[in-house]
Amino acid sequence: MDFTPAVGDMPFTPQQRSLLSLANELGRSRFAPRAAQWDREASFPFANYSDLRDAGLLAMCVPHQSGGLGADYATYMMVAAEIGRFCGVTSLTWNMHICSTMWTGMLADGISMTQEQRAEHERRREMHFARVVKEGAIYAQPFSEGSAAAAGRAPFGTTARKVEGGWLVNGRKIFASLAGAANYYGVLCTEDKGDAHPDVRDTLYLAVPATSEGFAIAGEWDPLGMRGTVSRNLTFKDVFVSDDEQLMPRGIYFKGAQTWPAMFFTLAPTYLGIANAAYDFTVSYLRGEVPGEPPVKRRMYPTKQVSVAQMRIQLETMKALFVRAIQEAQPNPPKDVRMRLYAAQYAVMEGANDICRLAIRTCGGQSMMRHLPLERLYRDSRCGSLMLPWTAELVLDRMGRETLYEPGEKDE
Ligand SMILES: Cc1cc2nc3c(=O)[nH]c(=O)nc-3n(C[C@H](O)[C@H](O)[C@H](O)COP(=O)(O)OP(=O)(O)OC[C@H]3O[C@@H](n4cnc5c(N)ncnc54)[C@H](O)[C@@H]3O)c2cc1C
Repeated sequence: MDFTPAVGDMPFTPQQRSLLSLANELGRSRFAPRAAQWDREASFPFANYSDLRDAGLLAMCVPHQSGGLGADYATYMMVAAEIGRFCGVTSLTWNMHICSTMWTGMLADGISMTQEQRAEHERRREMHFARVVKEGAIYAQPFSEGSAAAAGRAPFGTTARKVEGGWLVNGRKIFASLAGAANYYGVLCTEDKGDAHPDVRDTLYLAVPATSEGFAIAGEWDPLGMRGTVSRNLTFKDVFVSDDEQLMPRGIYFKGAQTWPAMFFTLAPTYLGIANAAYDFTVSYLRGEVPGEPPVKRRMYPTKQVSVAQMRIQLETMKALFVRAIQEAQPNPPKDVRMRLYAAQYAVMEGANDICRLAIRTCGGQSMMRHLPLERLYRDSRCGSLMLPWTAELVLDRMGRETLYEPGEKDE
C-alpha cells in the first residue's frame, strides 16, 4: 500500500489490504471530488453508490457462500473509516446498508437459536443476500422514532401485527438515512400481540420494500451536517410485508442487541475517517500545499506547531482505542472489553468534532471558506455524538452505571 490507512498501519490480512486500497482509490478519485455537491444540495450520493455496487462493496459483508466478499466485522470497520476520510455521508449511509447484511449474517451466526429458527433464518436471509449480490439492492436501517426506543429503553412504537402470510406494519420512523434511495427499509418494530403491554423482547426486524402500498417518505431535510444522508421520515399505514421479509426470527433481534454490543459501534468509523481528513487537511494547509490555494506557509508559528501536535495526539488516542475495540469485538464481551468499547465510541464521536474544531482554529479564517472541505468536515463531525443508541450522553450514562453497579445490584 502506498498510503497509510485511516486506522493507521498494522498487520492487515491480504483481504484487508486489497479492500483498503480499493476504498482509498475510490475515495480519492471519485468520492472526495463529489462530496461538496451532496452537501450543497442535501442530495443522496447516487453516483458513489454506483461505484460501490460496481466494486462489489455493497455485498462486502455478505458471506462468501452467498456470493459476497465475506468481510468480517473488523475489516468492515477499517474500510468504512477509509471511505469516511473522503466522504462522510457515503460512509455513514453505507454503514446502514452493510449493517443490514451483518446483523443477518455474522451477527446472527453468533446468537443462540433453536434448530427451527436457524433453518428459517438461513433460508430467508439467502433471499436478502441475493437481492444485494444479484440486483445491487440497497437496504436502509430506520430504527429511530424520537422516543426512548432507539436508545434501547422502551419498545418501538411502530408495530407489526401477524396476518395470513405476513405482517401489517403501522407507525412512523424519523431520521431514516437513505430515504428515497433504498430499495428496502429494515424496520425495527414491536409485535402487536393485542395486549396493552408492549415488550422490547417482542422486537421484530422486517424489510419493507420501498414499493409497498401504504409506505411513504415525508418531511423536510435541511440539516446542519451529514446532509447527503437524506435522513427523512417514514410512515407506514397498514403496510403488508410477507413472512420472508423477516430479517431475523421473532425475538432474535433483542437477543442480538444484548449479545453483540460492538454492533452499535459501527457508526464510529465514519467519524474516525472525518477526523483523519481534518488532520490531513491541516497539515497540508499549514505547509502551503493545498491544491488551488496560494502556496502560503503557516507552519513556522510555534502556536500552530503545538496545535498540530495536540491534534495528532488526540487522533492517535482515538485510533488506538478504535483498533483495540474492533480487534476484541465479540459476543457477550467481558466487562473490561465492554468498557473499552464505550470508551472508544465516546473518544471517536466527541474527538472527531474536537479535531475539526482545532483544525479550523489552527488553520485560521481563510480555511473555513466553502470551497474548502474543512467547514463541511466540522459540520458533519458534529452529528456523530448525537446518534442513538450510543450518543455521547448515553455512553457516559452506561459507563458510569455499569462501572459502579454489577448486574442485578440495587441500592435498597
Ligand atoms: C445524520 C444522521 C443520520 C441518522 N440516520 C439514522 C438512520 O439511518 N436510522 C436511524 O434509526 N436513526 C438515524 N439517525 C437518528 C439518530 O440515531 C437519533 O435517533 C436522533 O439523532 C435522535 O434525535 P432526538 O432529537 O430524538 O434525540 P434525543 O432527544 O437526544 O434522544 C432520543 C430519545 O432517546 C431517549 N434518551 C435520550 N437520552 C436518554 C437517556 N440518557 N436515558 C434514557 N433515554 C434517553 C429519550 O427518550 C429521547 O427522546 C440519524 C441521525 C443523524 C444526525
